[in-house]
Amino acid sequence: MTLTIDSASLIEAKSGPRRWQMLIDGKWTDGEVGLEGERVSPGHGIVVSRYAFGSEADVNRAAIAARRAFHRGPWPRMKASERAAVLLKTADLIDSRREEIARLDAIESGKPIRQARGEIAGAADIWRYAASLARTLHGESYANLGDHMLGVVLREPVGVVSIITPWNFPFLIVAQKLPFALAAGCTAIVKPSEMTSASTVLLGELLMQAGLPDGVCNIVLGTGPEVGQHMVQHPSVDMISFTGSTRVGKATVAAAAQTLKKVSMELGGKNAQIVFPDADLEAAVDAAVFGAFFNAGECCNAGSRLIIHEAIAKDFLAAFAERAAKVRVGDPLDEASDVGAIITPAHLAKIGNAVTDAAADGASVFLGGAEIQSGAGQYMAPTVMSGVKPEMAIARDEVFGPVLSVLEFDRIEEAIHLAESTDYGLSAGVWSRDLDTAVTVARAVRTGTVWVNTFMDGYPELPFGGMKQSGLGRELGKNAVEDYSEAKTIQFHRGPRTAWWVGN
Ligand code: NAD
Repeated sequence: MTLTIDSASLIEAKSGPRRWQMLIDGKWTDGEVGLEGERVSPGHGIVVSRYAFGSEADVNRAAIAARRAFHRGPWPRMKASERAAVLLKTADLIDSRREEIARLDAIESGKPIRQARGEIAGAADIWRYAASLARTLHGESYANLGDHMLGVVLREPVGVVSIITPWNFPFLIVAQKLPFALAAGCTAIVKPSEMTSASTVLLGELLMQAGLPDGVCNIVLGTGPEVGQHMVQHPSVDMISFTGSTRVGKATVAAAAQTLKKVSMELGGKNAQIVFPDADLEAAVDAAVFGAFFNAGECCNAGSRLIIHEAIAKDFLAAFAERAAKVRVGDPLDEASDVGAIITPAHLAKIGNAVTDAAADGASVFLGGAEIQSGAGQYMAPTVMSGVKPEMAIARDEVFGPVLSVLEFDRIEEAIHLAESTDYGLSAGVWSRDLDTAVTVARAVRTGTVWVNTFMDGYPELPFGGMKQSGLGRELGKNAVEDYSEAKTIQFHRGPRTAWWVGN
């Protein structure tokens, strides 16, 4: 299989590389040590971005600025309506630069441009939702403690939040964290993935235009060991909001424990779509193809396991193959592409190894199974492994590529058991027209989200996050701003002292 990279898009990608600096205390800056990074476009194989990379010294500068902005700056003390106005202005600015931001994410991450546009529009919507929550955050009062007492519970911002994001949805994932932290009155240090930093730096520019005070949002660029690690250990940081792999998430929680920081973790997934014979099978086939191959499977929510009733497995897979053949894998900047490139050559090799190992374990390559030759960049054919058994690595571990594992079941209990045979618990899909079946499965699987007769929809109003080793806490939803706040109890006593401790 081969694909051709459009020469116009190569020229566009080559028109860079743009160079991006860090934002610390309201100023654009290079790192103190002078480290540099660069990004090779996964779809084109050419350098598209150069970055000023930071180090421990820059994390320290950012932490001091964020701490100062928190303790002495106006942001935590402003009216919520004023903070909301800055978030709403940011959303408008995101809309006005949507095409530019989408192109940055497409070029750096390899995702298709049409999809990237949708993500940027979705991100602006989340900024607006966070603005609405800023004005509803409130505490509680207790007038039921006796005539002489009044209890008040305030919600106060946590303080300085370190926000660390991955490369697969660069602009969308920072939108699931930063506006809620800002809405609560927190200040932040943000580190995007070292591979896809450009759109987050551009966001810093928009925040300044929107009137965010200096030091409230600092953006430090660089790798996990050089920057991220210091962001999770720094004594001036109060909370870590991390999205990334379960491996790094665990190390982050361990590091944060040294200073007992609050943590919010959005980690990996090995999500199942469970299909029963009474489902709308045409819709289920389409959702199975979408779940497996959307964002080239580089998606925490990917439906990377198909758990299918044995009576319909053969026909379902035939229909799946027919539909998968229509998926257009190609140049991220081509409007027609449904699936783009794989993030790095090393990651492509890792996906290839997972397929080879699964075949060695006894699974069969039903579809695809190999990379697609393109002459520039790296691409993987949509792949389906059939005959997968629950004990195989391909059934349990996150591949993070366009690889679907098919497992078959007979009874509903078996389907639930298969779905549960992984350490992850991010999301699941169930396809059935029978209410009993849908409710039974939806209640039994231990995942943060279950979709019934649909897959991978998302709304700012609905909480999102994982059970088991897929994470800690939830993002989005009505509590998203509260999560960046602490409860403070104040007890008021009125009148003469009511309970003398020493006899009076
Ligand atoms: P990763 O864990 O390698 O990196 C994530 C971020 O952590 C990057 O910014 C990286 O530089 C930083 N980092 C690396 N080492 C660090 C350290 N020691 N201390 C602090 N920070 C460090 O993940 P990735 O490869 O960028 O992203 C893919 C992973 O993210 C997948 O496992 C995927 O499932 C997960 N993910 C989860 C969600 C979710 O919402 N649950 C969403 C998207 C991605």
